[in-house]
Amino acid sequence: MHQCRTVLVTGGSGLVGSALRKLSGVDLKYRFVFASSQDCDLTDFEATLQYFRKIAPDAVIHLAAAVGGLFKNMRCKVDMFETNVRINMNVLRACHELGVAKVVSCLSTCIFPDDKTKMEHINETMLHAGPPHASNDAYAYAKRMLEVQSRCYREQYGHNFVCVIPTNIYGPHDNFHLNDAHVIPALVHKFYLAKQQGVPLVVAGSGAPLRQFIYAHDLAHLLIWVLEHYNATDSNDSGTLILSVDPSHEISIAQVVHHIADAIGFDNDIVYDMTQADGQFKKTADNSKFKRLYGSSFAFTPIRQGIRETVDWFVQNYDTVRK
Ligand code: NAP
Ligand code: GDP
Repeated sequence: MHQCRTVLVTGGSGLVGSALRKLSGVDLKYRFVFASSQDCDLTDFEATLQYFRKIAPDAVIHLAAAVGGLFKNMRCKVDMFETNVRINMNVLRACHELGVAKVVSCLSTCIFPDDKTKMEHINETMLHAGPPHASNDAYAYAKRMLEVQSRCYREQYGHNFVCVIPTNIYGPHDNFHLNDAHVIPALVHKFYLAKQQGVPLVVAGSGAPLRQFIYAHDLAHLLIWVLEHYNATDSNDSGTLILSVDPSHEISIAQVVHHIADAIGFDNDIVYDMTQADGQFKKTADNSKFKRLYGSSFAFTPIRQGIRETVDWFVQNYDTVRK
């Protein structure tokens, strides 16, 4: 994208937006604008159009969303559905009306079908091949519609609107809320408090479910690569790309617990509360398409190192972190 100058990042104050912001200080090829909900409420179409007109982006990395872990997805289905549908409708429509050359939107492996028998590894062709897991169906269907909407704009108008599908993301600047966050930030916060209070750490669920995790800093690098190199208009491409570590790097929640305990230096008991939900057992993402297109092998941050850096950041910034 040689002529691309201004890149608007929606969700610029979030986990992934913050990682991109850090990277943008090094990469001066673009003028990045990082938008939070304070800059513009993307659920409001007129406000969105006005804001996008003011920024006049050449490209948009669309990260803004109502985001949460398993328990927020179970508890707040209307918000997870309506807010996300509204934001996505408004962002893509505004980009269409203003002739934005490229949009990279963020889906999630939460949208994957929950079929325990047939789908060993799930690739880009299988996104709609069965209902998502009931625990996060509201969020998943809203995100699936973002894929559909991007595809419609490609087919009807030839727009270069693509989607990426990251697995579970973690890192500094995450939301560390005890009940609403994803598993790594929620547990980092719980471990921190349990260590301070000298009490056992309670993990929700059995610890058996499997997940692939991507460090936000790695994802930020890959989003820039997608911005520059992944174009659905080049070919008959599906316009959707999984960004993930290898299936062989999938780990259990119990292994995540072990890594966090190690990083934080936790010696008390760890208890698994089997009365709490496990969510989808696994949703293994097949990253073959990414590996083929990326060419050389991408050096993903090892989970041990990523968790250590996240814990260090959390401890150092405890007073001001989102929690
Ligand atoms: P996050 O940390 O929760 O940040 C969400 C961002 O969206 C914030 O910048 C927030 O702004 C903004 N936002 C929310 N509602 C808005 C509204 N009405 N108007 C304008 N902005 C609004 O999210 P994240 O973890 O970085 O996620 C980034 C993207 O990756 C999302 O699309 C998410 O669905 C996807 N994803 C996340 C994960 C994960 O594990 N975190 C996994 C797969 C995919 P404020 O700060 O002002 O509230
Ligand atoms: P998911 O990958 O979309 O299901 O979302 P999460 O990042 O919330 O991970 C959910 C998995 O982690 C489930 O198996 C939960 O039982 C487990 N888990 C264990 N403790 C926690 C916790 O404190 N918060 C969350 N969100 N999940 C937890």
